[in-house]
Amino acid sequence: MSNCIFCQIILGKSPSHMLYQDERVSAFRDIHPVAPTHVLVVPNQHIASVNDLAREDEALVGYLFTVAHQVARQEGIDGTGYRLIINTGPHSGQVVFHLHLHLIGGQRMRFPMG
Ligand code: 5GP
Ligand code: ZN
Repeated sequence: MSNCIFCQIILGKSPSHMLYQDERVSAFRDIHPVAPTHVLVVPNQHIASVNDLAREDEALVGYLFTVAHQVARQEGIDGTGYRLIINTGPHSGQVVFHLHLHLIGGQRMRFPMG
């Protein structure tokens, strides 16, 4: 989608610090990190939110978690731990309507947030 910032990043048309990319998933650093590691793991296919997932996306969603784990390992935070967050809709504060998994770590966190 040409008006979607994450689609533009995935296509290399907008700049990003890309950490991992293959034919299904991309992972790049969040532009406004809230912790030492803050990476967004996204499907290359434009899916607006969890509300828009279809049954045929189930394997893709699982793969997002596999890539998140791999990036956490690359970042050296798999042992100390990390948080995976998917905001969905207005009450969650979702602002970019291209499904993304926030991978946040590198410091101790409180729970719940917000
Ligand atoms: P949401 O609130 O939708 O779950 O989170 C969207 C995230 O995308 C925010 O953490 C925000 O900082 C990040 N973000 C928004 N625009 C850009 C961008 O152009 N590049 C990158 N790397 N991150 C972005
Ligand atoms: Zn998109």
